[in-house]
Amino acid sequence: MDGKTIGILGGGQLGRMIVEAAHRLNIKTVVLDGPNTPAKQINALHEHVNGSFSDEEAITKLAKECDVLTVEIEHVNADALQRVKDTLGIEVYPLPETIKLIQDKYLQKKHLIGHGVDVTPSVDVIENTVESLAKIGSDFGYPFMLKSRTLAYDGRGNYVVKSKEGLSEALEFLKDRPLYAEKWCSFVKELAVMVVRSIEGEVFAYPVVETVHKDNICHIVYAPARITDSLAVKASLLAENAIKTFPGCGIFGVEMFLLPDNELLINEIAPRPHNSGHYTIDACVTSQFEAHVRAVTGLPMPANFTRLSTTSTNAIMLNVLGDKVANKELETCKRALETPNASVYLYGKTTRPQRKMGHINIVGSSMRECENKLDYIISGSQASSS
Ligand code: ATP
Ligand code: MG
Ligand code: MG
Repeated sequence: MDGKTIGILGGGQLGRMIVEAAHRLNIKTVVLDGPNTPAKQINALHEHVNGSFSDEEAITKLAKECDVLTVEIEHVNADALQRVKDTLGIEVYPLPETIKLIQDKYLQKKHLIGHGVDVTPSVDVIENTVESLAKIGSDFGYPFMLKSRTLAYDGRGNYVVKSKEGLSEALEFLKDRPLYAEKWCSFVKELAVMVVRSIEGEVFAYPVVETVHKDNICHIVYAPARITDSLAVKASLLAENAIKTFPGCGIFGVEMFLLPDNELLINEIAPRPHNSGHYTIDACVTSQFEAHVRAVTGLPMPANFTRLSTTSTNAIMLNVLGDKVANKELETCKRALETPNASVYLYGKTTRPQRKMGHINIVGSSMRECENKLDYIISGSQASSS
């Protein structure tokens, strides 16, 4: 399988897990990011490129070492990727135009609306002024969500505008960033679906999962989501239809809201492996990382390769975030190591409060079994099984 070398823009945990999946298939990987980032730590087979994934020179240097470039983060220099694709004849997946579209969350919404895909009602902020936001407030009502169009992650580009009086504070918080606004969605659950697209344009959805966020950061993922089968089918179709609108190939994470009337709306799409898909490493026939590697290198993607494996029909993923007390989060990891059918993944980062340090996958044959194990891992005591 070692015919193609993959260049990865970004060396964080997602890059690290792409490297692991590629290694298993003897596929070489070269990483562009700062020195000693998580993906570089576990790959000494090849010299990496030190630099920024926004820097054209560094991207060109990476491209010259590789046959195909991919990303573990969407906040990259998409124009530079387009140029290396055109001038060096190298493959880039996801396509640079897809990355460019998705990295502007408002353009992403407009694109999906244009293709008849249901998304959260959104409107452009023409001018960053109290007057233009007040107009949106009177149309959408309060609260509404003010979002940065670009460079957002872990909710750090979002501000909940609770009332007209909060408008100037919202503008102050998001400063001079390009903005758009979203209608408030009183969701009953947040769902997510990983979808992988082959170069032939065929899409394969992973099971629909339920994501629980804490302080805007993914906290727990339940796989499959605790919803009816008909809703799961609906969510799956919505995600597949959204990904069919992006030519090229690779894995995508589709985040959505389930509303009280069972309506489903897409919140946003990530053109890369996604936190909500980490459970696939232990619970599915093929992990999201291997699926991505297969897609971008043109390897086979047989029927059902994204389904839950027969021995792990249920799974829970717990994110391990840096504790206020340095390294205290490792106590949670230790309890996971004591737990049957739980696996610990650490990313090789220096601990910092709220930083994503690793994750834990628990698999089982019922959600109850996984939940009992989760209780122990989180708190050190087991919930009663009555
Ligand atoms: P990510 O790390 O997933 O890329 P992000 O910074 O791009 O995060 P969003 O996904 O837009 O942020 O929002 C973060 C969270 O805020 C969502 O998962 C959801 O819990 C909440 N949220 C976002 N938009 C809305 C909305 N319109 N109404 C209600 N809650 C929302
Ligand atoms: Mg986002
Ligand atoms: Mg999100």
